[in-house]
Amino acid sequence: MNIASDPKSIPASTLLSPEANQAAALATATGVLTVDLDAIVANWRKLEKSAVPAECAGVVKANAYGCGADQVARALSNAGCKTFFVATLDEAAIVRAAVPTAVIYVLDGFFQNTGDAYARIDCRPVIGDLNELAEWDVFCRRTGWSGGAAIHIDTGMNRLGLTVAEAQGIVPRINAGDHGITLVMSHLASAELLNNPANAKQLAAFREIASAFSGVPASLANSSGVFLGSQFQFDLVRPGAAVYGINPTPEADNPMQPVVELKARIVQIRNLERGETVGYGGTWTARRPTRLAIISAGYADGYFRAASANDGTRGAEVVVAGKRCPVAGRISMDLTAIDVTDLDKTAARRGHLVTLIGEGITVDELAHHFGTIGYEVLTSLGKRYARIYKGGAAPVEAAAEPPAVPG
Ligand SMILES: *Cc1c(COP(=O)(O)O)cnc(C)c1O
Repeated sequence: MNIASDPKSIPASTLLSPEANQAAALATATGVLTVDLDAIVANWRKLEKSAVPAECAGVVKANAYGCGADQVARALSNAGCKTFFVATLDEAAIVRAAVPTAVIYVLDGFFQNTGDAYARIDCRPVIGDLNELAEWDVFCRRTGWSGGAAIHIDTGMNRLGLTVAEAQGIVPRINAGDHGITLVMSHLASAELLNNPANAKQLAAFREIASAFSGVPASLANSSGVFLGSQFQFDLVRPGAAVYGINPTPEADNPMQPVVELKARIVQIRNLERGETVGYGGTWTARRPTRLAIISAGYADGYFRAASANDGTRGAEVVVAGKRCPVAGRISMDLTAIDVTDLDKTAARRGHLVTLIGEGITVDELAHHFGTIGYEVLTSLGKRYARIYKGGAAPVEAAAEPPAVPG
């Protein structure tokens, strides 16, 4: 045992309290991304309640929509979530380390030579093609692996999945028993549009084929699908976006809580004469003596260039000292100019943090300025931010365990 440990070999995070760690991260950070795990858990619980008696899974692909797969999976697992969906095997390995006993499905499914990884991680492929199913069967026969797999059936999305006719072809196998299929699922293409006729069509198609897979749990609904009504919920619902605070019902108010807050630092305050222009291309002209705050976030941080402001087109807004202020000129890679002329002269200062997401600016609002959806905003949030996690405390049972002996 190494008694006189070299302090340099100990990561700072084990030496500092969470508060001290946070302060240290903040001191050097040009951006701070705060993920509220309690809000994530509250959103998941709300979805779980609306889906009862169906089980509520957690979709944590793409690093839990940018929020941190490890932290989110732990928090959801502590809240009672037992089934997780990821896109890739690498993501599955991360989630497996976080939640040792949960069921994990991998949406991209099975490729030749990935069987050993499936068995090692103990996760299940979502199989969306008959060749893939045949290869999976070969792997299971050869190795004796019986970890289970989902069958994905396409009901109109035309992305992944067996056709309904192909799925009918494996019904005899289901009826014969011992088939190794643990879930039958499909995916809705337009669930966020309540009255889109595609929803009823997909529901009818899925209902029929899922009933032929007798005894196999069925799943159709993503976040928005949960809000289409109980007939869409089957045995398991698969929300992602709504867990992270994105509005699953864009035609109505957002029933979910916001989850992320994003701040960037003011690098410089500068004054412009009337008629001067700002940024690349000089596309924004000061129409009055103008004060700018140059902030330390740009498109390389996931603050999309599409939210730039030019003469004649407004861009995104950020909250500076409690007030909304507009972007001025083109957003560049690392920096963005904000027009703070309307604030008190001393309200915005070098080193202050301003709010890009939060204080009333939602992910969905930003998505509108970026010309995209909240999903892309979250999954684009950059790696240069200091990341801070709030809440997500372990359940009482875990907290009551005796503390580990130091050293
Ligand atoms: C991403 C995904 C989900 C989650 O969708 P949200 O709209 O984020 O709730 C569910 N099922 C499948 C197949 C997916 O790819």
